[in-house]
Amino acid sequence: MLSHLNAPQREAVKYLDGPCLVLAGAGSGKTRVITQKIAYMVQECGLEARNIAAITFTNKAAREMQERVGKLLDSRSARQLTVCTFHALGVRIVRQEARLVGLKPQFSILDTSDLQQILAELSGNADKNLIRGLQWTISGWKNALIRPEEAVKLVNDEISHAAAKIYPAYEKTLRAYQGVDFDDLIALPVRLFDTEPEALERWRIRLRYLLVDEYQDTNKAQYKLLRQLAGQRGAFTAVGDDDQAIYAWRGADVENLHLLQKDYPQLRVIKLEQNYRSSNRILSAANTLIANNEKLFEKKLWSEHGLGEPIQISMARDPDHEAELVAMKLTAHKFEFKTHFRDYAILYRGNHQARVIEQQLRNHHIPYVMSGGQSFFDRAEIRDLLSYLRLMANEDDDLAFIRAITTPRRGVGAATLEALGTYAGRRHASLFATVFEEGVSEHIAARQLESVRKFGDYIRQLSHRAHQESAGVLLEELLRAIGYQAWLMESCEVKEAETKWRNVRDFVDWLSRKGEQDQKTLHELVQTIALINMLDKGNEDEADAVQLATLHASKGLEWPYVYLIGVEEGMLPHQSSIDGDTIEEERRLMYVGVTRAQRGLTITACETRRVAGERKMVDPSRFIDEMGDGLRRTGKDAAPVSQEEGRAKLANLRAMLSAKPAK
Ligand code: ATP
Ligand code: MG
Repeated sequence: MLSHLNAPQREAVKYLDGPCLVLAGAGSGKTRVITQKIAYMVQECGLEARNIAAITFTNKAAREMQERVGKLLDSRSARQLTVCTFHALGVRIVRQEARLVGLKPQFSILDTSDLQQILAELSGNADKNLIRGLQWTISGWKNALIRPEEAVKLVNDEISHAAAKIYPAYEKTLRAYQGVDFDDLIALPVRLFDTEPEALERWRIRLRYLLVDEYQDTNKAQYKLLRQLAGQRGAFTAVGDDDQAIYAWRGADVENLHLLQKDYPQLRVIKLEQNYRSSNRILSAANTLIANNEKLFEKKLWSEHGLGEPIQISMARDPDHEAELVAMKLTAHKFEFKTHFRDYAILYRGNHQARVIEQQLRNHHIPYVMSGGQSFFDRAEIRDLLSYLRLMANEDDDLAFIRAITTPRRGVGAATLEALGTYAGRRHASLFATVFEEGVSEHIAARQLESVRKFGDYIRQLSHRAHQESAGVLLEELLRAIGYQAWLMESCEVKEAETKWRNVRDFVDWLSRKGEQDQKTLHELVQTIALINMLDKGNEDEADAVQLATLHASKGLEWPYVYLIGVEEGMLPHQSSIDGDTIEEERRLMYVGVTRAQRGLTITACETRRVAGERKMVDPSRFIDEMGDGLRRTGKDAAPVSQEEGRAKLANLRAMLSAKPAK
């Protein structure tokens, strides 16, 4: 079974006597070490799969790893294995230890817009930039395990001053709603394990061995959680690549690589040097590029794959032209090499770049899936329904209460809600609980109160049934009962309403499928959705389609042919990192992008782009020059410029061919 591995990979798989770190460049088989090690531990060493946890960076990566390991293990073991993200592991811990953490097991995971609403209320300011700044700052503190009383001492500018001021109230509000934010999913378990040794022992027995992929992107809180669970024995294997650290902006800390060596002096460090992914041209361009960064650890990478195709560089006039160029090149390439759509990925720095690409792919009838974009679960219509589901699970979730009771409108106006809110606030109770209190009738008119109570009764009834009945069936019934489709028709234009309704149907299907597949209760499902929301807003479709993804979302994945678009100064490296002098992180991002490609890499850049509404000339990215030789440049004139011109050229060609030869 270890025959599919090279010598250092085998060493990493077989080493179980202490903590192990595999430090190696892209495509060298780090993730393969993790999957093989799991199989090895179960099959050769007699470890129970339920005692092993593999931590991946995204849900998509978790799904893929589960699939790969599933092929190596028997089905029972595969089911018992834990493969998930740090956050998903956090949810499990918080759910199981809820009482010790001070929550109900059905706590709500609040999403970004819920949190922004809370922050706006607490700060008494609705300015979007300010709110985002506050959220960012508080999240940063939580990822670094800094509590409100400590944050006060770290204040150094206006935003952090404002953030420190509302941080305690923010925490209180979340708890009052029986809610947590994403950062709590790590911070709460860490705090719990700090203070409750018995709980920690329970989890150490449960998870005897941990494997962590993409270790370079863990933040301080995640590292602490790993250390707590792994204990002094250091029963873990971490794999990572410092050259692919691209989450510093979210609190990830490459220092954790050094810390590991400091905290575990017995750490076995294994390096891998053979790349199995890319052709040598791609690999050498990636190596040359990343050599421009200050080195943390020396690494070499070589590949047995041949030299391969030269990397193509294409210049476009502007983003529309660029998108068209990519769509046409892709179509031509697919035709010539008889490939599948799923062999291609189009990668970009920022989400906003996807829109033009999507447009062109649709024009060319090229199927695609997208990850890293606006989540399906973020759409208004889905959030409407989720608010009902959240409320069914957690009556204390005031945000869900307000959204559900006002969608669709049931004669409960702002004045009623305000009166209810004031009364609830005085009694320190949730809105939902207040609805059924005697005293509330003095503050709310009888007719309104009747509507509100009817709503409350209905939710309780559904919530009760959620213990036995399937999530899909309940949701189906809920839609009928609240007349959601009719309400969509009333409140939006026909086309929009139809799209929304289609999304709702997709959601019902998804929930039914998921409920059956994973044997999860509605409450557990709702928590899973909040997690999907957070990171990889991936499409689970397995269809034959081109993948669109942000560079961040592409981490750990690979495709035969990759198009990297918008490789310009100001885009990649991003303007903010040019200003803020964080070019090295951008270079790593470029390195991640380049190393996703197996056989073919095309880089495109625009000559002009709209910046703040104005058309501006832009330069190709410095990273293109930094990749060295072996790049083939094609000017914008070398490619057909538009469909019309392309067609005109074709018509000319036909005319020439069919013209009678001159005598
Ligand atoms: P990244 O840094 O991008 O996450 P990685 O180091 O995790 O890359 P993998 O994804 O594990 O690399 O492996 C890259 C490719 O090489 C995969 O297609 C994998 O199946 C293949 N591979 C890894 N090790 C071997 C091996 N020993 N023999 C053949 N193929 C291998
Ligand atoms: Mg990997």
